[in-house]
Amino acid sequence: MVIETATREETLALGVKIGEQALPGTVICVDGDLGAGKTVLAQGIAKGLGISEQVVSPTFTILQEYRDGRIPFYHFDVYRIEDPDEMYEVGFEDYFYGDGVCMIEWAELVSELLPEDHVHITIEKQMDRGSDYRRIRAEGLAE
Ligand code: ADP
Ligand code: MG
Repeated sequence: MVIETATREETLALGVKIGEQALPGTVICVDGDLGAGKTVLAQGIAKGLGISEQVVSPTFTILQEYRDGRIPFYHFDVYRIEDPDEMYEVGFEDYFYGDGVCMIEWAELVSELLPEDHVHITIEKQMDRGSDYRRIRAEGLAE
């Protein structure tokens, strides 16, 4: 599935839809450059899961947990990871193979740790079409 968005709000709305349909145990791996819109998508997913807390980029921690929604939401951002050991320190396996919804920004940096069964989303800027255009490709989403 390929979706093009022209605004932040459209990407947010896509996230909401994904969050509304997400089942416990879903792992959503997201790749894309800095500023592509990974965190915007995470904010939408959280909203779709019924989370009212503000989702921010977990810059100084690998993982931020949100538990006030329909299903727990585990938001990873592994951009600053230097060693896979950091993932073991947070106990990532309990989250990846648990009953919440996981979203991992910069998933390609921990590709060897990802569960086989996951949704993969890539976000690309479309600079030739203006600074707000994004091409979002999703594989493994139930449609
Ligand atoms: P990332 O987490 O991938 O580094 P962010 O989600 O933090 O990126 O930031 C994306 C930035 O791009 C935000 O400032 C957002 O307002 C802006 N933006 C502009 N157009 C879009 C779009 N179509 N989708 C998502 N974000 C957009
Ligand atoms: Mg981000």
